[in-house]
Amino acid sequence: MTWDCIIVGGGPAGLSAALTLGRARRRALVIDCGTPRNHRSAAMHGYLTRDGVPPAEFLRLARDELTPYESVEWCDDEAAAAEPTAGGFRVLAGGAWLEGRTLLLATGVVDDVPVLEGIERFYGRTVHHCPYCDGWEHRDSPIAVYGCTEAAARYALAMKVWSEDVVLCTDGYPGMAPELGAELAAGGVPVYPQKIVRLEGEGDRLRRIVFEDGSTLARTGLFFCTGQRQRSGLAASLGCHFTEAGAVATGDSEATDVPGLFVAGDASRDAQLVIVAAAEGALAAVAINTLLTSRDRQAAAPA
Ligand SMILES: Cc1cc2nc3c(=O)[nH]c(=O)nc-3n(C[C@H](O)[C@H](O)[C@H](O)COP(=O)(O)OP(=O)(O)OC[C@H]3O[C@@H](n4cnc5c(N)ncnc54)[C@H](O)[C@@H]3O)c2cc1C
Repeated sequence: MTWDCIIVGGGPAGLSAALTLGRARRRALVIDCGTPRNHRSAAMHGYLTRDGVPPAEFLRLARDELTPYESVEWCDDEAAAAEPTAGGFRVLAGGAWLEGRTLLLATGVVDDVPVLEGIERFYGRTVHHCPYCDGWEHRDSPIAVYGCTEAAARYALAMKVWSEDVVLCTDGYPGMAPELGAELAAGGVPVYPQKIVRLEGEGDRLRRIVFEDGSTLARTGLFFCTGQRQRSGLAASLGCHFTEAGAVATGDSEATDVPGLFVAGDASRDAQLVIVAAAEGALAAVAINTLLTSRDRQAAAPA
């Protein structure tokens, strides 16, 4: 059988697309291998009506809501490969090649978490990457921004909205460009260039940063700015183009340059929030349904 749409990725973007396609009575298969980007986070913030809900609970609620839509099915596996076919695409998952008329990749990204002794127990609790997700919980508290690029410097300056006490730790990187150093100084962001030995605290509460020179710095929150990668190689293997920032280039309604292939969520745009990913999934689903309707009409038209 051929699915109207195969959705690879069952995070907020993929599930939102599945809901919209299910409600349009489309046969959709969601393939997901169960490693959402925010799985280390204790609470998801900034999603209207679900502020503070644990990410796993949010996904459980979303999957439950799909239950009445019988045309939507689930495959718990990694999609290992995808190829174009005469009728659309085929995807290798669950030990078989599965056929779809359209393909939506909602496969997300993975973060380059800094390699620092002790970070594992704090990550997602008091060490974060996104101020919109977790900045409010650290308001008016001593914050370190971690990174050595211009983006990290700008990030540190932007963090001043959440706290007056923000420093930039470059972890051994000797110095910022003079203009940037001056901007940080003017913005009230001290720079700590020393190499970091480890992070210390109690339980999952960060308390201090320990530097190689033996000095310590009391901090209760650390935000890193170190980059990210596509979670899946499927978009590249299908010939998608990428933006300079490494996102899949999409146009209107998440369509890619490859006909019938859509990419939604973190994989495609840079406003990386759950509510945005869900909105992009819905947009893509509407475009997919419209595309299928138009193809069906053309096929049914008398020659
Ligand atoms: C620690 C942390 C905390 C965060 N906190 C917040 C917050 O508070 N608020 C907020 O709005 N945003 C938050 N975010 C960002 C948020 O997680 C993302 O914006 C959101 O998850 C993007 O949704 P998505 O559907 O695009 O991708 P994801 O949620 O990453 O879902 C992608 C899914 O695709 C699956 N997948 C990938 N490749 C394959 C494959 N080949 N085969 C099968 N399945 C595959 C993965 O298993 C995953 O389930 C946080 C991120 C992190 C890292």
